[in-house]
Amino acid sequence: MFSDCHCHLGEDAESAVEEALKADVGLILTAGIDLESSRRAVEIADRFEAVRACIGVHPWYADEYDVEVEHLFRKLIEEGKVIAVSEIGLDYVGRMTKDWVYEERIIDKKIQRETFKAQLRLAREFELPVIVHDRTPSFETLELIEGEGNVETGAVIHGFSRDVEYVERCEDLGIYLSIGVRPLNRGELTPDAIRRIPLELLLTETDSAQPRDVLRVAEHIATLIDMRPREIGEKTTRNLRRLLRL
Ligand SMILES: [Zn+2]
Repeated sequence: MFSDCHCHLGEDAESAVEEALKADVGLILTAGIDLESSRRAVEIADRFEAVRACIGVHPWYADEYDVEVEHLFRKLIEEGKVIAVSEIGLDYVGRMTKDWVYEERIIDKKIQRETFKAQLRLAREFELPVIVHDRTPSFETLELIEGEGNVETGAVIHGFSRDVEYVERCEDLGIYLSIGVRPLNRGELTPDAIRRIPLELLLTETDSAQPRDVLRVAEHIATLIDMRPREIGEKTTRNLRRLLRL
């Protein structure tokens, strides 16, 4: 079985999940990026056995996080509808607007940090793992995860495209690394860094609305580390189950 630890199922969730199941992608985590999409993630997860919901406010919209949002998130978690807190993190490069237009403007770094920390604490409080977006040039994101105590309750850096040193920092801390379709398509994955990821910390994702595409990631990793795609699928799915305590 394969798994997608980070996708954003959309309007056509029905057919996307059907195709994923046909391709043996049997565990799918769909993430919100703001309050509305987090609620939608919960609704979608309610409809499909294989799908689990993650809620969070993305760093691109960090200024939308407030006590009201946190209160509503808390309710969803208490109802048992949430498997992880995501998509959260830091992005110091640029952002997609809600109309899906790229802009170089970023939300004030201080606001991003506050929103990220508040959601790390929320996850910690409910002992939920976090699946994190990191586009900083440094190790700040990892330091915040460690500092807030979220390593113990499980943490993933999604859409990994960094170097060997970053992998080593994650290995030291016990933070999982998820390989995605997007960095693969952009040619951002360095074989040395991928090979350096301990198999026990490896996960796969699409970060799209088509979880079946996770097979392409498994195939790519398989060629780099001389394993079969199916073995990558089994290994990464076992890792994801461990992370989620399933
Ligand atoms: Zn995402």
